[in-house]
Amino acid sequence: MPAMSRIHLLADPLVSQIAAGEVVERPASVVKELIENALDAGASEVEVLLEAGGKGRVAVADDGCGMGADDALLAFDRHATSKIASFADLERVGTLGFRGEALAAIASVARVELVTAERPGDGHRVLIEGGRVRVAEPLARPRGTTLDVRSLFFNVPARRKFLKAPETELRRALEVAQGYALARPDVRWRVLHEGRVLLDLLPAAGPEGPRQRIAQLFGDELASRLVEISAIGEPGGVDAIGGIGERWAIGGPPQSAEDDGEAPERIGGLVGSPATARGRRQFVFVNRRLLRDRAVLATFYRAVREEWKSEDFPALFLFLDLPPAELDVNVHPQKAEVRFRDPRLLDRVAAALRVALARARGEMAAPLRRPVATAPAVPFAWQGLGGLQAMPGEVAEVSGEARWPAGRLAMPSYAPPERAAVPLSGRRGEVRPFRLLGQYKGTLILLEGPDGLYLIDQHVAHERILYERLRRSLAAATPASQVLLSPLLLDLSPAERMRLLELAPALEACGFGLTALSGQTLALTAVPAVLSAGEAEGLLGALADDSAAGAPADGGLGPRVLDALAASLACKGAVKMHHPLSPHEMEALMSELFAAEQPYACPHGRPIVLQMTDSDLERRFGRR
Ligand code: ADP
Ligand code: MG
Repeated sequence: MPAMSRIHLLADPLVSQIAAGEVVERPASVVKELIENALDAGASEVEVLLEAGGKGRVAVADDGCGMGADDALLAFDRHATSKIASFADLERVGTLGFRGEALAAIASVARVELVTAERPGDGHRVLIEGGRVRVAEPLARPRGTTLDVRSLFFNVPARRKFLKAPETELRRALEVAQGYALARPDVRWRVLHEGRVLLDLLPAAGPEGPRQRIAQLFGDELASRLVEISAIGEPGGVDAIGGIGERWAIGGPPQSAEDDGEAPERIGGLVGSPATARGRRQFVFVNRRLLRDRAVLATFYRAVREEWKSEDFPALFLFLDLPPAELDVNVHPQKAEVRFRDPRLLDRVAAALRVALARARGEMAAPLRRPVATAPAVPFAWQGLGGLQAMPGEVAEVSGEARWPAGRLAMPSYAPPERAAVPLSGRRGEVRPFRLLGQYKGTLILLEGPDGLYLIDQHVAHERILYERLRRSLAAATPASQVLLSPLLLDLSPAERMRLLELAPALEACGFGLTALSGQTLALTAVPAVLSAGEAEGLLGALADDSAAGAPADGGLGPRVLDALAASLACKGAVKMHHPLSPHEMEALMSELFAAEQPYACPHGRPIVLQMTDSDLERRFGRR
């Protein structure tokens, strides 16, 4: 008797629901797909309506080309698309969508109404529920399309359960809209949540469009601190003056497949002065698609390190417009990643960035940097080397008890001529005979200790100190908080503002005071007593970005969240690597580190202190 077959084909609705999981994860993914469709349809106005953070409703209306009666039904079939017809087309996709999956996926997990018209008056309405057409009838509307998506995952409770609180979902949806608003300044955008206007952005066309759009979203101050990025004479013929690529500044949908090969590569955008380094505003657009492309971001970080010798990464709005053939967008279901065909592209991006970064620092930032006097280009220990003198026999002792181990290294010993040894007092009043030697590459602090040479990672050390300060202050029933006499106004985009408001309960428990003012402004009214106003503002700026590693995803309370918050606050507020410190700053940092409960490892477990003992050194110098 033949064995019964155990493999069977899945029913169609189930297949659709499974496939939907790849495309539709949450309301923000619906917003993304519908916005992309609107832009692909050539819209000049896009309006997004949200309810219950998008869980209840996401509706996107556009004034694009609309659809005829047949297409209005066909649009919901899987693999139904007007955008590509052949495999060859796939190689040069110029539209944001092309797989024909989004509407089918959304319709299989929600209640969807489509109203669309190619000409005013001549419209159609289609109602679909869980993938089944319920109604299809004529209905008038102006040219364009409205897709109204209600009750996301009403028929997939398991997925619905994974959705977060409405505020979180709303903020994510808003971040998506904000990304496209940046990508397309020529388009008018409106976003409303339960009747409240969150974004209302007039179109800003022309070469200054991007800067105006940034000003609309992030405020004039940021916009005024940006310089243009322009590609430098690479093959593809981009001129050095071109600056922001006209193709995206002028707007209109990205080039269509027909232009393939004609349109040159464009590297453009805006990068900020060092003053914009607060927060994490780094946006990379590839053919007007906002991506968190690691390779491009890594190129940017490297360019900043090399050009500025700094870890303070400024705001970045980078626009890469490439011939579609240069790009493979078909590597990620939500198209969050792309693959570049030409590996040398990143070299050209790096070159363009470095020129812009040099200008961004030179033109605007120089007066804002710390005065040279407190940050000598040459570390002070090096300056002292000229006067080095052997101190025969005796060792410069800091405290009476400290003696070098009797041995060869102890004599001769060297002391910088001017600075006497710095006594660093440890916990419980104990004085530890350490002497500050100086700073290495703005990164490591070198100490001479009783039993060897100590290398201290200043960034990690500061992180540890901040962490302990914050934790101590959090451990108090009500952490000491300091009210600011004049509240600091925070310049935030609507999405960033929402993110901070989400975190507000946790932040308030730490001693922050945040007040939402009218419009988009958020005022910092109080800061934890352990932080300076500047430190606190910097921490908030960094926390406003969701992707910041270590930040708690939801604004929940509780000791573990607070601990995580302390760790992540500490990690973001700590002095950066490649940051010159004055001897005084180093001393302060070291004495606080020695007073720490755990001076040897950061909250994330990285080592703070490395030591080379005298015997290590002696062995290496062949003295043993
Ligand atoms: P894709 O965008 O990958 O083609 P979708 O499922 O998102 O697939 O959409 C299917 C088709 O429906 C599109 O190719 C397009 O022809 C049509 N369509 C969807 N949204 C709109 C819109 N807002 N305006 C005009 N046509 C649209
Ligand atoms: Mg689409």
